[in-house]
Amino acid sequence: RTVYVNGEFLPETEAKISIFDRSFLFADGVYEVTSVLDGKLIDFMGHMKRLERSLSELKFAFKPDIDQLLEAHRELVKRNDITEGLIYLQVSRGSAGDRDFAINPETTPTIVMFTQSKSLIKSALAERGQKIVTFPDIRWRRSDIKTVQLLYASLLKTEAASKGADDAWMVLDGFVTEGSSNNAYIVTQDGTIVTRELSTDILHGITRASVLKCAEELQLKVEERHFTIEEAQNAKEAFSTSASAFVCPVAEIDGKKIGDGVPGPIAKRLREIYIEANRATAL
Ligand code: PMP
Repeated sequence: RTVYVNGEFLPETEAKISIFDRSFLFADGVYEVTSVLDGKLIDFMGHMKRLERSLSELKFAFKPDIDQLLEAHRELVKRNDITEGLIYLQVSRGSAGDRDFAINPETTPTIVMFTQSKSLIKSALAERGQKIVTFPDIRWRRSDIKTVQLLYASLLKTEAASKGADDAWMVLDGFVTEGSSNNAYIVTQDGTIVTRELSTDILHGITRASVLKCAEELQLKVEERHFTIEEAQNAKEAFSTSASAFVCPVAEIDGKKIGDGVPGPIAKRLREIYIEANRATAL
């Protein structure tokens, strides 16, 4: 694979960053994952807006050059011949040449990118529906910033797999926040789509924004509010959204089947519409 490091394209085996890089020592970095369909970038500008927000919330003085990043994304897609898959972009605070908790404002950010070739539209998981298990949300209380501190999410994914499940949903003060790497939704018995409102408790999903727009265009009812695991278990449908899995239906939560325990019609329809709409506007 060809990867990108600070403006250069090079073989992954030749890519180097400092051991003093603050993303390595302090998880002091943010990232974005953009999906690729037909060799084009899905909702690239949405991801760049969130990148700018994450950087500014962490007080980075650095302002990314979005045109340059778009060019670099396209170049990596071309060099690695990606028709379907993901592009990972990480912007780290960089290195001050030593380990020091206090942030040195003089560091130059480290920017790395790599591609993952992956089938996204055809998904066995989306076809059968995910098995979800729930865990307390013990993350730091700025889950809206897309930092590379993903240890808890990694532990949960691993724990979910060891319980025979596909993913984990997190619960804070009795209410679902989000999935380990996706936003969480239910469809109530009267057909209303419910997802937690935006706050510092969840990541402001780029796919979430797009899917809610699709839902409105389909004249589906949407409520942005808290919901409990119990309400989810008694819902008609449940699903999650993310750039890498689009809309992914949920079949079971903590051993309880959702509806008939198969992907529901609203989740399936939203998945189709999301893919169709975003394919048409890909860059
Ligand atoms: N929540 C969390 C915790 C995530 O890690 C992600 C994906 N990175 C999402 C939600 C979904 O965001 P997006 O739709 O922008 O991929």
